[in-house]
Amino acid sequence: MTDFLKRRTMAFPQQLLDGYRAFLIGRLRHEQDRYRGLAEIGQSPQILVIGCCDSRVSPEVIFDARPGELFVVRNIGNLVPPYTPDGAQRAVSAALEFAVQALKVKHIVVLGHAQCGGIRAFVEEGTPLSPGDFIGHWMELIAPAAAEVGPRGDRSLDQYLTQLEQASVVRTLDNLMTFPWVRSPVEQGTLSLHAAYFGVATGQLSVRDPATGTFRQVAAEDYTRMFAQPRF
Ligand SMILES: [Zn+2]
Repeated sequence: MTDFLKRRTMAFPQQLLDGYRAFLIGRLRHEQDRYRGLAEIGQSPQILVIGCCDSRVSPEVIFDARPGELFVVRNIGNLVPPYTPDGAQRAVSAALEFAVQALKVKHIVVLGHAQCGGIRAFVEEGTPLSPGDFIGHWMELIAPAAAEVGPRGDRSLDQYLTQLEQASVVRTLDNLMTFPWVRSPVEQGTLSLHAAYFGVATGQLSVRDPATGTFRQVAAEDYTRMFAQPRF
C-alpha cells in the first residue's frame, strides 16, 4: 500500500454499512444455511452472466438470484474480446475460462441494456476521459456491430442506440465462439449461449430468438398484468 493510503484514514461509506446491516437482519438470516453449505461444498452455478457495469443493471437483482446461482462478469458495455492467447492479463477471458472449464456452466447469458453509456460513448466519439482513453479503446470492440447496423440515417438516436446495443450483444456471442473451449461444448450441446436485453426505464426483459434473430419480451403477460396501469 502506498504511504499516502497508509497515512490517510478514509471513512467506509455509511450507505454500505447501512446496507450490510439490512443484509444481516434480512437476507443472511434467511440464507445462512445456504451460505454455510456453499462454503463447505463450493460454488456450482449453472449460469454465467456477462453484464455491464451500469449500476442500474445488476443481474442478481433482475434475475432474483440467490447466493451461488450466478457467476457474473461485468464490464463497460457487456463485451467479450475475441480469443487472444497472447499472455496478456485478460480479465474477461480469465473469468470465462474459469466459468466454462472449472465450473462447467451450462449457459452463458450476455445481458445488454438500454441507455448504455459505453455504447453511447462509442457513437458520440466523446473526448477521452484520460490520456490512456481506456473506454475509447475498450469500446472499439463494438465497431463490427456498428458496421453491421450501418449509418444512423433516418433513425432516431434512441432507435439507433437500441439497435446497436442489441447488435453488440449478438456480436459478443460470435466473439464467445472464437474461444475453442466455448465452441466445443456449444457444438456438443452441453453449453448454450443466449442474448438478452434489459430496458432500464420499463423493466422489460427481452431474449433473442435464435430462429428469427429478433429480441422478444419474456414474461410479457406477467408484465402486462403487473403494470396494467403504467407506472413508468
Ligand atoms: Zn452499459
